[in-house]
Amino acid sequence: MKDRILDNTDAETNVSSSIHDDFDRVHLWHPYTSTDNPLPTYKVKECEGAEIILSDGRRLIDGMSSWWCVIHGYRHPVLDQAIKDQIGRMSHVMFGGLTHDPAIELGKLLLSILPPSMNHIFYADSGSVATEVAMKMAVQAQNNPRRTNFATIRSGYHGDTWNAMSVCDPVTGMHGAFGPALPIRHFAPAPQCKYGAEWDPADFEPMRRLLEENADTLAAVILEPIVQGAGGMRFYHPQYLRELRKECDRHGILLIFDEIATGFGRTGRLFAWEHAGVEPDIMLIGKALTGGYMTFSAVAATAGVAERVAASESRVMMHGPTFMANPLACAVALASTRLLLSSPWQKRIREIEALLSVGLAPAAELPFVKEVRVLGGIGVIELKGTVDLGEFQKICVDEGVWIRPFGHNAYIMPPYMAVSDEQVARLCKALISSLIKLEAKLEKN
Ligand SMILES: *Cc1c(COP(=O)(O)O)cnc(C)c1O
Repeated sequence: MKDRILDNTDAETNVSSSIHDDFDRVHLWHPYTSTDNPLPTYKVKECEGAEIILSDGRRLIDGMSSWWCVIHGYRHPVLDQAIKDQIGRMSHVMFGGLTHDPAIELGKLLLSILPPSMNHIFYADSGSVATEVAMKMAVQAQNNPRRTNFATIRSGYHGDTWNAMSVCDPVTGMHGAFGPALPIRHFAPAPQCKYGAEWDPADFEPMRRLLEENADTLAAVILEPIVQGAGGMRFYHPQYLRELRKECDRHGILLIFDEIATGFGRTGRLFAWEHAGVEPDIMLIGKALTGGYMTFSAVAATAGVAERVAASESRVMMHGPTFMANPLACAVALASTRLLLSSPWQKRIREIEALLSVGLAPAAELPFVKEVRVLGGIGVIELKGTVDLGEFQKICVDEGVWIRPFGHNAYIMPPYMAVSDEQVARLCKALISSLIKLEAKLEKN
């Protein structure tokens, strides 16, 4: 048993003062961490624009957009005001039997920017819950006790809840820890043809066979269009999606696009499906939806899917979270999306794409680097080994940046509407110099 640590607060400010907090280390879980030997965490005092300010006053340029979501930067006056105004009216009210303008106005705006065939919106609490809702929706729409399974591609990521885990990559995902407890899904290899490279029809053959062989048991295919995020930071060829749409139609399988990471401009298009011009039956958005202010997500569906759910045995969409369509989340999502659409976001993302390409290019020459790739506001250095995360974080903090690699990938995805050219250049420089400092310790595997 560890001692409880409750008394390391500063008597004057009543705030614990050191940059690494003892209470936090002993009592609080962080994402995917051990209580036994957790990596150090850095205490943040406040954030501003594209910067994270630590409790000791050091300012770090945010290279992560707090995991894809803070696209306008921190404490944006327009978003701050929208949420304050909404607090003055109501922070929450149940959505069962009641409705409100933030939900309605947001819905109108989303339907005007989502794929034209989208006609219905289900507001959910987080990305993972959106995945659960989409999978339930697909099963209900099929309304066929045999058609309840799912297919996907390897290297995907769809969230941490039960069904979401079941369609995450079986190796880098959580199948190891939960194996037999998870439903068994069908996995095709990850697409090999890269975005911007030539298309090879052979790339789709494994998925074509998989769908053909399992059509009568499949409710839907779920995948991230164009960019596979947390499962591998891979950019693949749009033709894959066009082939997939045709085969899904042929077999009566629904197609679900998870755009939780790719939405709201990150890949250079407002949504990634636009790279392929292929519309899904069900689409998920989250993360940048609220400009990173609150947890929130939405599941959009075609009129056809909604009609099939309504005609199914249960007649209703069987989901209804307590905080569904939370007014604060809707209000800030509305403000964030309006702000994005009224700004020259395409131009800014093209500029950032160019800055990332130039800034990360020198890494391609390094012996421990496998590949450098850039798309929109995402720059990736794929390593031959993996980095020691604790040491890497420390070096980056000393360099004045916040970058958190995952597995073989060290990547930058800055808050594109807030970051300056100079800050992007500094992120690239700092990432490369941090990797060079760690080179000797890159774990080969
Ligand atoms: C982050 C993410 C999720 C899960 O979202 P949470 O809000 O963390 O539950 C699902 N799908 C994709 C593609 C994501 O990037």
